[in-house]
Amino acid sequence: MTRTVIDGGFVVTMQNRDDVIKNGIVAFEDDRLVYVGERSAFDADSFAAERVIDAQGRAVLPGLVNTHIHLIGAYLKGITEDVPGTAAGLFNRALPILAECRDPDDVYFGSLAHAIEMVMTGTTTLVNTWHKEMNIAPAVRDLGIRASLSEFLVEIGFTGLDAKTTERPWRTERLNRSMDAAVELFETWHGKEEGRITTRISPGGPGYMSLDGMARSRELADRLGLGINVHIAEVPGETEFAESLYGKRPIEIGVETGVLGPDAIAIHCVFLSDSDIDALAVSGATMSHTSYHVAKRGYFPPMEKVYPTGMNVSLGSDWCSNDLWHYMRAAVLIPRTLTGDVGMQSGYDALELATMGGARGLGLDDQIGSLEVGKKADIILVDVSRPWLMPIRMENFASNLVYNANGSDVTDVFVDGRDIVRDREVVTVDRVEVFAEVQKRAELIWQKAEKNF
Ligand SMILES: [Zn+2]
Repeated sequence: MTRTVIDGGFVVTMQNRDDVIKNGIVAFEDDRLVYVGERSAFDADSFAAERVIDAQGRAVLPGLVNTHIHLIGAYLKGITEDVPGTAAGLFNRALPILAECRDPDDVYFGSLAHAIEMVMTGTTTLVNTWHKEMNIAPAVRDLGIRASLSEFLVEIGFTGLDAKTTERPWRTERLNRSMDAAVELFETWHGKEEGRITTRISPGGPGYMSLDGMARSRELADRLGLGINVHIAEVPGETEFAESLYGKRPIEIGVETGVLGPDAIAIHCVFLSDSDIDALAVSGATMSHTSYHVAKRGYFPPMEKVYPTGMNVSLGSDWCSNDLWHYMRAAVLIPRTLTGDVGMQSGYDALELATMGGARGLGLDDQIGSLEVGKKADIILVDVSRPWLMPIRMENFASNLVYNANGSDVTDVFVDGRDIVRDREVVTVDRVEVFAEVQKRAELIWQKAEKNF
């Protein structure tokens, strides 16, 4: 058994709003928290720590939870964000590039690149969705991050997708193959790495599959006892497509096919009517709000109507940028800008989305998302001695972090009590080697994909 003490930091427990402990102690034995509280009340002698980490000048927080990512999207950074046209970055750049990532090593190294970005900026749990997820699992295993992996269930090829068309040549054999892959992923990886790796079922959503495909996805999730992630109300054209073909909106389809429920993470949820918001809230699903990502595409969900429903909201990055500090800020600032309502969300509320919101979405709120005795030792340290965070003030401490901290201020990261990042460097994989390999592979992939731009 390894006993560790994180000594003397500003402990942001996320148990309740004002709960920031100045000069606190967080102690853990192996993967479990055994003490979170005042330094003065901690019995250091009887705990007999094997190692003590000095956290003076550091904030100590629960690790961040990212409920939607495509790790393979590392290859899209800087290429897809400034493409004019309706979701053109996605359809005209991202999909042709990803179609060229066929070599399992392209997938492994690309995934590792995004996952390294995530841990180094404070994320300890991610929810990934992509094709051939079996090739992605080794990357999260090698890094040591907590991950829920899901095979992307689709009934159409990449080339069949376009924001402007309502044509969908469904290919059931493709859906069958991806469902088989989801079962293989479950059998191979669910509960592995001391439980850090789990799996989920990820129907592509109404834009990517038939109604029968949606219903079959729910059946599969129930049969395996897994939660669901679904892209829904995601891109322009999806609502028009669904209405023209079925006379229903995507959220209605999600509810009627049983896909949306309390175990579901509804990804993006941008194009929501008032009745969609009500139906989504009643379903009990968690929204994965991709705040900093969708804004690049020139649209944003009506959060001023979502928050008052009390539905559980979490943050997801999708791809390209995975520093959740950007997403927290965007989740507060963009709705304020769109509505003029400065009272809508606070910095603390944004931190709640990035921690407990994600934990609840995964049904892991008894394990992660806050610093509480008995929970997992998924912990991050943030350097608050930086000029952009000074002077320190206990009041609104969490808000100060959200508005002013950057991912690069994260100094140390523990997952299950294991060091993943120490002194701002990832320690489980060789970062320099990984990025040399990613750069080489990226240049070849871009070259091949450019003919289809
Ligand atoms: Zn996505």
